[in-house]
Amino acid sequence: MGSQDYAFETAEGVKNWIGGAWVDAHSGRTLEVINPRHGKVMTTVADSGAEDVAAAVAAAQEAFPAWKATPIKERAAVLYRVRELMLAQMDELAKTVSHENGKTLAEAAAEVAKGIECVEFGCSLPNLSQGGVTYVSRGVTCEIHHEPMGVCAGVVPFNFPFMVPLWMLPQALVSGNTFVLKPSEKTPISGRHLANLFREAGLPDGVLNLVNGGKEAVEALTDHPDVRAQAFVGSTRVAKLVYGRGAQTGRRMLCLGGAKNHLIVVPDADVEMTAHDVVRSFTGCAGQRCMAASAMIAVGDVDTIIEQIVDKASQLTVGEDMGSIIDAGSVERITRYITQAEEQGAKVLLDGRGASVEGADGYWMAPTVLEVDTTMPAYTDEIFGPVLSIVRVKTLDEALRIENAHEYANGGSIYTTSGATARYASQRINAGMTGVNIGVPVPREPYSFGGWEHSKFGHGDITGEDGYNFWTRRRKITTKWALQPDETWMS
Ligand code: NAD
Repeated sequence: MGSQDYAFETAEGVKNWIGGAWVDAHSGRTLEVINPRHGKVMTTVADSGAEDVAAAVAAAQEAFPAWKATPIKERAAVLYRVRELMLAQMDELAKTVSHENGKTLAEAAAEVAKGIECVEFGCSLPNLSQGGVTYVSRGVTCEIHHEPMGVCAGVVPFNFPFMVPLWMLPQALVSGNTFVLKPSEKTPISGRHLANLFREAGLPDGVLNLVNGGKEAVEALTDHPDVRAQAFVGSTRVAKLVYGRGAQTGRRMLCLGGAKNHLIVVPDADVEMTAHDVVRSFTGCAGQRCMAASAMIAVGDVDTIIEQIVDKASQLTVGEDMGSIIDAGSVERITRYITQAEEQGAKVLLDGRGASVEGADGYWMAPTVLEVDTTMPAYTDEIFGPVLSIVRVKTLDEALRIENAHEYANGGSIYTTSGATARYASQRINAGMTGVNIGVPVPREPYSFGGWEHSKFGHGDITGEDGYNFWTRRRKITTKWALQPDETWMS
């Protein structure tokens, strides 16, 4: 998005979408939503509490029997229409995402396109969702049916306000559940857009509900006894809290958390491709991606690659090639990590502190490249900004030992031109999503997205086939109609 596109716009206040009506929070409370490019209030969002959550869950509960009884092909047909509407409104959707989140228009368009891919996977479920039947014993069959769970819930972060809800909704809705979504209070406009798209596509009232707000709304949703399955995407600190809280109610939980994705670069790596990918990975969405490469392990002499990384990153123009940071607190946090690392002896190869954009008084950071050691918080913690922390080691095994010891294990990649090195490293990197010469190793549907260790709490992954398994439960039916002539006591 060019600087000419930074015009500040206000938006209508965002309410809750409950049972097919836009309603204020019961308490009347709202939160301010700050436009990250301009640092000014652009709208407000309902600040919900337990009563709002109860109303949304009740609406979802009421809508469940009829939606469950609707044939899967008809449920998927709604998604087909959603997809058509999304394609027709692509520009407007990208603008909404870019405006409220601060990412560039190109990044926002890519997010919308990726969201549409998630919808397409949901459209395919009538073809993928067959159960199975086996003749297991004399006259006896076992069959398996996937059934919806009932009322399901999702809590999502600010950084992909359009796409992350679509990691959940297609599989959950097509498989016959009803849903309560809690968008991020920092980026609630995309959630409103999504609800309107589903309504326009013919989704019956109450099947999808939106409860806006922050911690209080999440806690009420996570405690509600009628929610049967819940997914969460956000920071590890909150993922862990929400996971524990939800599990106590007995519901199924899947909570994705933060990350520190490592790129291991060995001397035979392709210089141009590696430098290009590393820069795109750590600066894309201004580093506010759970799959951003925020740590690079430089094995041996890869100085030419590091020089090119610094050179390429220094040529990026903040406000043109890179979007803004979500809020003032985040700029402060990112700056603090850089300053602390510098004080602890890190080399600052490129310094992005204090960046600004003319005509846009919001929150900005330019790319930063640090050479750190593994004890520094700039290495151990998720900074969630455009900062690359480089650690130097002598051997690939040392690189793998360091990577393996990190608490996060979302993504990790090896950069090499050797097949043997690629195979060796890709089988040993400790990350749910591993790449070979890929800066952002996100699997595409039907493969499922999800990390390991403290990057995810719960079993299974969130997108693709695992999403379908998460939002359904399996009924096993064992049948016999008559005694068989050859029956024994074993039958
Ligand atoms: P966050 O954890 O602050 O917020 C996520 C959601 O939790 C929001 O809806 C928020 O309202 C709610 N929330 C915040 N504090 C809460 C609390 N104390 N109790 C209950 N609910 C609370 O995350 P964020 O800042 O919106 O997003 C950035 C984080 O999300 C990063 O850590 C990033 O790595 C992570 N993320 C992970 C993935 C993944 O797939 N693993 C994807 C996207 C983002």
